[in-house]
Amino acid sequence: MTERFEMLIGGARRGAANGTTFSCENPYTGRTWAEVPDATPADVDAAVTAARAALDGPWGQTTGFDRARLLRNLAAQIARDTQRLAAFEVNDSGKLHREMLGQMTGLASWYDYFAGIADKLEGRQIPTPNPNFLVYTRRMPVGVVAAITPWNSPLLLLTWKLAPALAAGCTVVIKPSEHAPVSTLAFGKLFEDAGFPPGVVNIVTGSTGATGAALAGHPGVDKVAFTGATETGRGVARAAAENLNASTLELGGKSAQIVFDDADLDAAANGVIAGIFAAAGQTCMAGSRLLVHTKVHDQLVDLVVKRATTIRLGDPHDPTTEMGPIANGPQFTKVMKLLDQALTEGATIACGGRPDEELGGYFIRPTVLTGLVPDATILRDEVFGPVLAVSTFTDEDDAVTQANGTPYGLAGSVWTRDVHRAHRVAGRLRAGSVWINAYRAVAPSVPFGGYGLSGIGRENGVEAVDAYLETTSVWVELSGATRDPFVLG
Ligand code: NDP
Repeated sequence: MTERFEMLIGGARRGAANGTTFSCENPYTGRTWAEVPDATPADVDAAVTAARAALDGPWGQTTGFDRARLLRNLAAQIARDTQRLAAFEVNDSGKLHREMLGQMTGLASWYDYFAGIADKLEGRQIPTPNPNFLVYTRRMPVGVVAAITPWNSPLLLLTWKLAPALAAGCTVVIKPSEHAPVSTLAFGKLFEDAGFPPGVVNIVTGSTGATGAALAGHPGVDKVAFTGATETGRGVARAAAENLNASTLELGGKSAQIVFDDADLDAAANGVIAGIFAAAGQTCMAGSRLLVHTKVHDQLVDLVVKRATTIRLGDPHDPTTEMGPIANGPQFTKVMKLLDQALTEGATIACGGRPDEELGGYFIRPTVLTGLVPDATILRDEVFGPVLAVSTFTDEDDAVTQANGTPYGLAGSVWTRDVHRAHRVAGRLRAGSVWINAYRAVAPSVPFGGYGLSGIGRENGVEAVDAYLETTSVWVELSGATRDPFVLG
């Protein structure tokens, strides 16, 4: 049976102003499983107006201590609802239940972490050359935040924006992806249960990019936070800049896992598998390039291929499944197109390279490509699918040059037993996250984001809240004397 969900605007559950809806497809079954509202520009206006009203209302007067309490309440609500939220994400995106349950369970820790920051947003007392002034700063919420989120890990990537924004005292309008909107709509209920005033968090859904575009460029918005494709992010930043708003952008990647000849190859193979086949490679931080020392190329590729060919594809709700389908039709088409192009450009398939014939639908076999020419498209373009592109290097400089040889700079890893080399190479990579002898770990306390075309700004960590704060400098005249009106200072 198709489930129906509504938007959240000003504390009220609402359909679209014109009553239209769109369908959500379960990528595993291929069937419609939910109907959600297809927002009009009037709905986006209403959500921004509600967010502004909430900011001007009692929420704007809350202390950091009040907000910390509400964020902790929210964390407690999430902990009670992990199963349901995880199931919604699996239905919408085909990601594994065991992965989404892990993400939902971890979600609460983000709200707890930023609750710990909400009551510590201190200004400064600043000396000036004129002793007749006491000057201090206040940290103020930036205002109404637009949070535009993608279909892979919808609630986790939303939380990276929402937790610091709420800690800062902002109000938020969320626009989830048309391909996975349901968990975000269901999440809306938890704000009410946690005690957040109406309008602090609003959610609009739309069937095309037009809804996100209307929100990103809305004159009532003060700050835009976005995760998604680099090209879309460019448009979002442009729309935000039109209103002279800042944007935080978490975009694509083409991250390299560098494996030296002294590495523990079993551990490295396991890390390579985690980096590219977990979540079917549909993560911004996917380790989609393997850079391996020529001496251990064959040995490592054999290990990776052996494990990749035994990856169990199937029903994402089944706890024994290791890889689900590609999340939606357009993404399946994109992955297949890039695969075909790689073959045209001379790539050798070490394994996979095709859809899974038995399962059909959007399933693509875990793929390892070798024998690539240096300028192969697959070494440059983000696939966002289970496709590993393998290249070799001869020495450290060569490895670093190749790793840094794309316009992206989101993540990377170094696999070696040499502690000196590990830190030396980590320090030379232009990447926002570098793992040494590991891959694909994140935490609320650790900054995440990218260099170059991978984005602007960092999410997570204590500094993340700064993106949602303005600074007001307050000057207090101490002498009580009348000042010369024509002199500055
Ligand atoms: P998009 O970047 O198009 O989607 C991300 C979000 O932006 C969605 O909510 C989307 O809404 C919204 N959006 C779309 N167009 C606009 C616009 N003009 N202005 C404002 N918001 C907009 O990604 P896709 O879903 O199309 O995926 C395409 C590719 O993006 C993937 O193949 C992958 O390479 C990359 N990607 C990267 C992610 C990351 O984590 N960095 C996450 C997801 C995708 P709607 O869905 O309604 O179009």
